[in-house]
Amino acid sequence: MASAKYIFVTGGVTSSLGKGIISSSLGKLLQARGFKVTIQKFDPYINIDPGTLNPYEHGECFVTDDGAETDLDLGHYERFLNSPTSQANNVTTGRIYNNVITKERQGEYLGKTVQVVPHITDEIKRNIYQLGESGEFDFVITEIGGCVGDIESLPFIEAVRQVKWDVGVNNFLVIHLTLIPYLKAAKELKTKPTQHSVKQLLEAGIQPDILVCRSEMHLPQDIRKKLALFCNVHINSVIEALDADTIYDVPILMRKEKLAERVLSKLKIANKDEPNLDQWKTFLGKLKNPTDEVEIGLVGKYVELPDAYKSIVESFIHAGAHNECAVNLKWISSETITEENGADVLGNLDGVLVAPGFGERGVQGKIEAVKYVRENNIPFFGICLGMQCSVIEFARNVLKIKDSTSTEIDPKTKNPVIDLMEDQKKITDMGGTMRLGAYPCKLKKGSKVNSIYGKQNISERHRHRYEFNNKYLDKMEAAGLKATGINPETGLVEIVELENHPWFVGTQYHPELKSTVLNPHPLFVKFVEAALKKKKS
Ligand code: GLN
Repeated sequence: MASAKYIFVTGGVTSSLGKGIISSSLGKLLQARGFKVTIQKFDPYINIDPGTLNPYEHGECFVTDDGAETDLDLGHYERFLNSPTSQANNVTTGRIYNNVITKERQGEYLGKTVQVVPHITDEIKRNIYQLGESGEFDFVITEIGGCVGDIESLPFIEAVRQVKWDVGVNNFLVIHLTLIPYLKAAKELKTKPTQHSVKQLLEAGIQPDILVCRSEMHLPQDIRKKLALFCNVHINSVIEALDADTIYDVPILMRKEKLAERVLSKLKIANKDEPNLDQWKTFLGKLKNPTDEVEIGLVGKYVELPDAYKSIVESFIHAGAHNECAVNLKWISSETITEENGADVLGNLDGVLVAPGFGERGVQGKIEAVKYVRENNIPFFGICLGMQCSVIEFARNVLKIKDSTSTEIDPKTKNPVIDLMEDQKKITDMGGTMRLGAYPCKLKKGSKVNSIYGKQNISERHRHRYEFNNKYLDKMEAAGLKATGINPETGLVEIVELENHPWFVGTQYHPELKSTVLNPHPLFVKFVEAALKKKKS
């Protein structure tokens, strides 16, 4: 295909309808027909990126290879498409305005009044075309965050309207995701909210081409007809999106509803062969027919909001399916774990993952959790702060350096086994200044992680300020906590592994950010395998 086709996904009626999953599923279906696809998200908030947002507000912050802190939907794009995203795939209102204001200060608009139209909308479009004009993709799917009618998303919607005239009708398509609520008392599916949200789009100059309708029950023909009539779309472009057992069913549901066929025919693209979804279906088959199950404790402080650990949860789904084993996650608030109750809280688990996190709250409970699983041979996986807690615990209870801690917890500690690097000490800005993105790591020959990865040189994604303090390395290794992954450029410790324990691995990086349906992360796969072994022993 000569130039990229642009597909926009807008949302109406309410948020949380799953625009990210619909975008990812459409992407998957197009990819399964041999097309090259990328998905981009526009977020209407003023933060430059979600890096400074509390996980309680916004869920997990997903980090790309190039070090962008992004919306968690990018995790879905990567997990579905099995291809990496980058900074270009997530743009916020804050970033758009920041770019425009920077250009204004540099004199780029000299003599002009800088306005929402055309300057902000031009900057939005530049971010859309940047992906389309890279020559890498047949389709650029752009998800517009929020709902139509939100004050904040108006400039994005206006930019979408303009794109149609820039690229031509055959290269442009809008999918509107909406809700068809069922009123129990009236025993009726209601179309009015959708009619209203389409009206709002029309007021902004956009006629949606396809309606994807979230619904708890099948849309009968008369409802489809009504939607088509009032929303000005062809009846075969009214697509039903039923609630699914798992998000990974959605591509299959959308295939049944012929979503990709409608997209291709509207964009006048000859229908290629049937999509190849064999591997996807194999994964779903295993996911739905486990032959065993394990119970894994997820110790974290944001457990009230599972979205805060989205990528970890999904990684367990991928790894569980790979092992044909259901992984039941038990969410444990780290603040509830004490020196005394380890056996009650963790004693019956087949494995424990201590989660990433920031700040002092909940750290002591995480350290107690590590102590319990270390002493009781329960498989342990520590990620980022979880790994740092395993180092602190080892220093305190094995090396007997009782006041060991991280300078994140006590900046004045005499024994900072986890500490800030020199270059981090000078930093005062909070946004985008952590160690972010992909860094190389070399694994020690013969280590557990070396055999798990099956190679020595790996690259994994980071998001943290604090690091293992190499001043304590020799003592730790002599006592059995080995540094088995080292950054070859800086000498920083990226992995610790405990000797004489069935499975005890802590990673300074976030392996969960690279697990996909087709490539489950080897550390999660082997951790689940270790939990299964523990259960059977
Ligand atoms: N708060 C720790 C740090 O900044 C760990 C961060 C994390 O778990 N992502 O180093």
